[in-house]
Amino acid sequence: MSTNRQGDIAYEVIRSPRATADIVIERDGRVLVRAPKTVPDEQIEAIVEAKRYWIYKNLAEWRDLNSTRVLREYKNGEGFLYLGRSYRLSLVADQKEPLLLKNGRFCLCRDMVERGAVEAARVAFRDYYIARGTERISQRVQYYAPKVGVTTRKVHVRELGNRWASCSPNGNVAFHWKCMMAPQTIIDYIVVHELCHFHHLDHTDAFWNEVDKVMPQYRERKEWLRKNGAGLDV
Ligand SMILES: [Zn+2]
Repeated sequence: MSTNRQGDIAYEVIRSPRATADIVIERDGRVLVRAPKTVPDEQIEAIVEAKRYWIYKNLAEWRDLNSTRVLREYKNGEGFLYLGRSYRLSLVADQKEPLLLKNGRFCLCRDMVERGAVEAARVAFRDYYIARGTERISQRVQYYAPKVGVTTRKVHVRELGNRWASCSPNGNVAFHWKCMMAPQTIIDYIVVHELCHFHHLDHTDAFWNEVDKVMPQYRERKEWLRKNGAGLDV
């Protein structure tokens, strides 16, 4: 891979045995040109130049979507999402559990934050969402699996990087713990979406047709997730 510049656009080139070149905006905002091994550098420059306005437009959209990304401070009054609602944080002394949702507030063990352990606070939230999510999302999978016409085995809620969910051929389904910050209707969409992948691995019309059969209102939920997904973080 190499980094290049065409006017004010910085981009990276990845060469592989492929037939044509294309340009993608990565999730971290990098511009990537995927090109056949044989295409000369000048031709890649010409492709980037020709796609200049497409790149501008897509980078602007990427910035919009990522402006919802949050930088957390674990202090009193800070809002944290749970099932689509924001709950204020209270730092409390004398609490056995690292984190509880109680009387409309997230109560986080004060010692943890005072020791300067932001990472520990983040882990406390993650563990909370994993514990609640394992129960709740498993129930939703059980509810939707017969409607989608599939049989599942284990449901895991865990760290999944850039993905909201994943499924494996042996019937296990995994969901990102961040799903628990989204409203219930969005969690249901993520569940139905993933279950439909047992019928179709890709996102073809046939796949969306399966989603539509079980959840005719899926489009607005999909759009909600696209717009707000980056804001679901702790
Ligand atoms: Zn999918």
